[in-house]
Amino acid sequence: MENKKGQCLGAGLVESNYLDQQQQLMTYVTHISTKYFNRAFQHEVRFNNRLRTTGGRYLVKSHNLEFNPRMANLPEFEGIVKHELVHYHLHLQNLGYQHRDADFKKLLSQVNGLRFAPNLNAKKIPNYIWQYQCENKHAIFRQRRFQTDNYRCGKCGSKIHFIGEVSNT
Ligand SMILES: [Zn+2]
Ligand SMILES: [Zn+2]
Repeated sequence: MENKKGQCLGAGLVESNYLDQQQQLMTYVTHISTKYFNRAFQHEVRFNNRLRTTGGRYLVKSHNLEFNPRMANLPEFEGIVKHELVHYHLHLQNLGYQHRDADFKKLLSQVNGLRFAPNLNAKKIPNYIWQYQCENKHAIFRQRRFQTDNYRCGKCGSKIHFIGEVSNT
């Protein structure tokens, strides 16, 4: 590829020190912006440790971007950066920059950006889950056990009984 900086975000980014990380992230975002949008990125970007399931976000007031450091080493990270840059560039051009806007959908698919952040917990789905049943035989499945006395069936409101553990595979 013509720009090695775009590739260097792989292994090691999150392990390197904070200032290096921020600098590499800035270089990376700038690179993606120029390469796919043909426009300069002229605001600030930083990792935000408080982001959990979100890949990144665009801050409407400051025009800055924030990214989830847990996703920085994923192959999907490029698509996450593109997604936030779609918000960014459209907003600065006074075009429809929100998810429901036609401009947003069009540009996102043009640059091949991600629609949703990857699910970091996908691998943690348990093999077994707990099954319950109400008096009208509605089946209820939960990952965690709960006190049946405290709950009623969401469909009919009757009492719930514990059945047992069932395979989730
Ligand atoms: Zn978005
Ligand atoms: Zn029921």
